[in-house]
Amino acid sequence: MDALENEVLEWLVEDLSLGDLPDVIGTIASTIKYNSCQGATDQEWRDAQAMCVVEEAGEFIGEYRRLRGFARRAGDKDAMLSELADVVIAAMVMFWNLDEDPHAAIQGKLRKIINRGWVNKDEQ
Ligand SMILES: [Mg+2]
Repeated sequence: MDALENEVLEWLVEDLSLGDLPDVIGTIASTIKYNSCQGATDQEWRDAQAMCVVEEAGEFIGEYRRLRGFARRAGDKDAMLSELADVVIAAMVMFWNLDEDPHAAIQGKLRKIINRGWVNKDEQ
């Protein structure tokens, strides 16, 4: 990756937009919390949500392996994509739960990815 490519990627990250996704997720999350977690403390709700992120990742990989033929049951692309969407939604709800800004976290992580260097297989 040359300096110009990195500069372009940095520019794209600078202009990153999540649109209204965080607000929509926040509204849905507060509705879920109100309707399904009454009596739970905020910490219990956060703990449940943290586990949900991993649970959804597990459901995604289950559907992915079915789709790739690594399981007894045949896979379905729509089911796999639905589980992948669950991973993103669960992660966004977790940001909301932590009262943290997903935009800033994602932007910061993308900057790290761009700047940490790439595997150069020619040198191996
Ligand atoms: Mg799911």
